[in-house]
Amino acid sequence: MSVIVQKFGGSSVATAERIKAAARRAVRAKQAGDQVVMVVSARGDTTDDLIALAQEITEQPPAREMDMLLSTGEQISVALMAMAIHEMGEPAISFTGVQIGIRTDSTHTKARIREISTERIREALREGKIAIVAGFQGVDEKYDITTLGRGGSDTTAVALAAVLKHDATAKEEERRVECEIYTDVDGVYTTDPRLVPEARKMDAISYDEMLELASMGAGVMHSRSIEFAKKYDVPLMVRSSFSDAEGTWIVPETEWMKQVVVCGVAIAKDETRILIDGVPDKPGVSHRLFSLIASQSIAVDMIGQSFGSGGKASIGFTVLRNDLNLTLATLKPLVDELGAVIRTVEDVSKVSIVGTGMRTHTGVAEKMFAALAAENVNMKMITTGDIKISVLVEKADGAKALKAVHSAFNLQSPRPGAGVNGEQILEEFKSRPDHRIGDAVRDLAQATSRLAGMEDIVISGVSLDDEYGRITISGLPDKPGNCSRVFQAVAAAGISVETIVQNLTAVDQAEISFTVPKSDLRRALIRTQDVVRAIDPKISVAGDSDIAVLFVFGVGMRTHTGVARTMFGALAQKGINISLITTSEVCVSVMVELARGKEALQCLKEAFQIP
Ligand code: ADP
Ligand code: ASP
Ligand code: MG
Repeated sequence: MSVIVQKFGGSSVATAERIKAAARRAVRAKQAGDQVVMVVSARGDTTDDLIALAQEITEQPPAREMDMLLSTGEQISVALMAMAIHEMGEPAISFTGVQIGIRTDSTHTKARIREISTERIREALREGKIAIVAGFQGVDEKYDITTLGRGGSDTTAVALAAVLKHDATAKEEERRVECEIYTDVDGVYTTDPRLVPEARKMDAISYDEMLELASMGAGVMHSRSIEFAKKYDVPLMVRSSFSDAEGTWIVPETEWMKQVVVCGVAIAKDETRILIDGVPDKPGVSHRLFSLIASQSIAVDMIGQSFGSGGKASIGFTVLRNDLNLTLATLKPLVDELGAVIRTVEDVSKVSIVGTGMRTHTGVAEKMFAALAAENVNMKMITTGDIKISVLVEKADGAKALKAVHSAFNLQSPRPGAGVNGEQILEEFKSRPDHRIGDAVRDLAQATSRLAGMEDIVISGVSLDDEYGRITISGLPDKPGNCSRVFQAVAAAGISVETIVQNLTAVDQAEISFTVPKSDLRRALIRTQDVVRAIDPKISVAGDSDIAVLFVFGVGMRTHTGVARTMFGALAQKGINISLITTSEVCVSVMVELARGKEALQCLKEAFQIP
């Protein structure tokens, strides 16, 4: 016997027929001898309809009341599902988030789970009932209803699987938990198959890759659900509710995954780029700006800083279109106080490639940029992370850019993990020992066991790298292909580029910074100068070998808005200036002066309580 958590998304319960089909699936699992927990979303477009209804009443609905309203969608689904199962002659019981004690913080409309009590679910399961839980909702300290953010039912399902698996009071067989996500596609694809029909289904993908893809826009999974899966070691399968085909496993990283340079591409269509000009270039200023935004639980991305003349910097970043108004209102007083101005606010799309193999393979960025240049797509901002590269493009270019990048990496063709060795990969995974011993896994488990709330941030390590030097190009005309030419020339010299950040500074000019191994700095500088002089002799190129890069590793770092705040805050307190920032779900890195590298490392270790 095992416990199976089956999650059904909105389209899987949209009609009475589909509810019955989902019910049959649960009954089948139960009759095969397993205990079954179902997590159900609101039916079809219910959540969208409820939002539209609120908008008819007011443009700014109070967040608490919004949660009261939105949570009703899931309540309808669980009741209907319980009725359908009763009709099939099996006992079932429906629960709202309050009834099974899904405790969250009070951040209405994007609350985080603190704890879930297993008592009521265990009781129902032991009585032989199918337990049906409303996804997406919880309750705060004051018993006010909260919701977890759009797509949050995935997170409910994985969090439930995690608590059931780690429930020390239960018998061993009751702690054998599997989690299946039933949806309207038969797995995770190399990109959204609705946008790129040639996309290919994957047999398996690692937690980190899925986390980055989901965070960068792959709506098939709620990114926070993958944080739970990774931290609590819950294997997941995404599969179709309309067929019995094997879906995609989301699992810990295995050896073969390192061969996969790019596993998928994601697009975030509704992003907004904000550029703040005239920010004093002093330690602590970015801390103040990003702290303020973080205090509203707004996740930023693609941070780029550039230094103009007279000790002023310009800082660019992106937020979700939905968070724009709140971001601007939050920043206004500080921007005014600093004597800075918000110069650009523009709707854009973000295209990102993700793959574990990027850690070890070079030339990936160059290939992506060349594909975009060939399609005449202009890159407005670029940031690279440990296992991802994101490029910001004009909104109208989004679909074209996605297709170009997907085909540049040949993602429509079979490869390990997507159409080759599928069976073998799954066997390997299914037969893994229950307690894999590995430093990374052990460190993560230790860090996770110290958490106060289940969804709190886990930081697994901090490190310092002083082997790199930086090249900065200022005033590069913002035209398709310019950036690609630089990286092609550097790659042609056999030099590997590590971090890249490009930011638009003036109306039609870009500033690009990138790092290369110190031993290659001089050669890279000469190559870069050759390329940019051919574009315009006035463009300036500078090399700097006195830098150090600090990396903070963890799980869910971008969406936990407090991480960057803690990091910038700790460095600001010591008066250490940050010159380059990259963020992703698995790593945040900042660049500082070489002379202060060790001190910065120590200070971050203390800030994150890393021994
Ligand atoms: P549910 O209501 O079941 O939670 P969602 O609409 O949230 O379903 O997620 C499924 C949808 O995600 C698919 O219909 C597909 O269009 C979209 N999607 C985006 N990226 C991907 C991807 N990489 N692989 C599969 N589906 C994707
Ligand atoms: N019903 C919620 C939404 O539409 C949660 C979910 O479906 O996961 O976002
Ligand atoms: Mg979903």
